[in-house]
Amino acid sequence: MIRPILRLGDTTLQSPAEPVAALTTDIERLLDDMVETMYAAPGVGLAAPQVGVPLRIFVIDLSVGRDAKALITMINPEWVDREGMQLEEEGCLSLPGFNATVPRPARAVVRGMDRQGEMHTVAGTGLLARALQHEMDHLDGKLFVDRLRGIKRDLIVRKVRKLARAGKW
Ligand SMILES: [Zn+2]
Repeated sequence: MIRPILRLGDTTLQSPAEPVAALTTDIERLLDDMVETMYAAPGVGLAAPQVGVPLRIFVIDLSVGRDAKALITMINPEWVDREGMQLEEEGCLSLPGFNATVPRPARAVVRGMDRQGEMHTVAGTGLLARALQHEMDHLDGKLFVDRLRGIKRDLIVRKVRKLARAGKW
C-alpha cells in the first residue's frame, strides 16, 4: 500500500525516531509499504518518519526498482564510518520541488538489521554515501534544509510557508 509522504512542517519529520523493538508482521507490512511508496514517488530513499512512523528504519534503492539486488533495508542502523566531503544537488520526497547543494561525506558505512533480522553492513561512496547520510538524518529528525546555511535554509522555509498559506503544500 502506498502511504502518504509527510512534508516539511510535520513534527514527525523533526523528531528523533525510536529503535525497532521486534520484527513483527506490522514492521514487515511497513517495509513493504515503504518500498512501494518509494518506487511510486519515485525516489531513491525513504525513511519511516516520512510516512508518519517514528521508527529507525529506512530503505534505499538507487535503481528505483530496476535492479532487485539494489534494495537496501536498514533497521536500527548505526554509523560505522564516514569520511571525506562531497557537494552535490539533493532533494527530498518531503520537500517536493526543492533542491539544494548539501555537504555530505564522500564515503559512508552503516550497519544495521535487514528484513530477516540479520546484521548487515553497507558501504558507499558518491550517491550512495549521500543517500545513507540523508536517510540517517531523517531518523534523527533532520531534513536536508537543516544542513544548509541560514539564508539558504530560510529561503526554502519561507517558500514552503507561502505554499502552505495558499493551501498548496
Ligand atoms: Zn528525504
